[in-house]
Amino acid sequence: MKPFTLFGKTFDLSVGRTHRAHHANPADLSDITINKEVFPTVVPLLFVLAYWLFPTVELATGALAAFFVLSLHYEFCHFIGHTAWCPPINYYRRRQRMHRLHHYRDETLWWGVSTGLGDLLLGTAPDIKSVEKSPTVHNVHGLLR
Ligand SMILES: [Zn+2]
Ligand SMILES: [Zn+2]
Repeated sequence: MKPFTLFGKTFDLSVGRTHRAHHANPADLSDITINKEVFPTVVPLLFVLAYWLFPTVELATGALAAFFVLSLHYEFCHFIGHTAWCPPINYYRRRQRMHRLHHYRDETLWWGVSTGLGDLLLGTAPDIKSVEKSPTVHNVHGLLR
């Protein structure tokens, strides 16, 4: 996310700043997980949403459990994308490769971290040979000085 101006005031949200920092130094694993600053806002909203959307406590609790398991899967896939470990399962090797392409080839492509479904639907996982290295892959939006 780029900084944006609203009513004359410029906002540069933490999610954008941390993502740009992550692209500037993908080898830094110290701040690789989902931005913890969002938890106090997002987690209560998820609970409200789940218990509002699902008619029973059991279904809502199950939906929340599934969401958090999928979130852990996302974190795992993202983490292995930044390590030298070679996963023994092809699915995870592919996820690792796609995330590395996002970081080292073109930051506007290969968005999917834990699945490739979004990239498949949006056409954002082209043949690697057809994509030149982006000059801003480590300086997203050219905002780093
Ligand atoms: Zn990453
Ligand atoms: Zn990115």
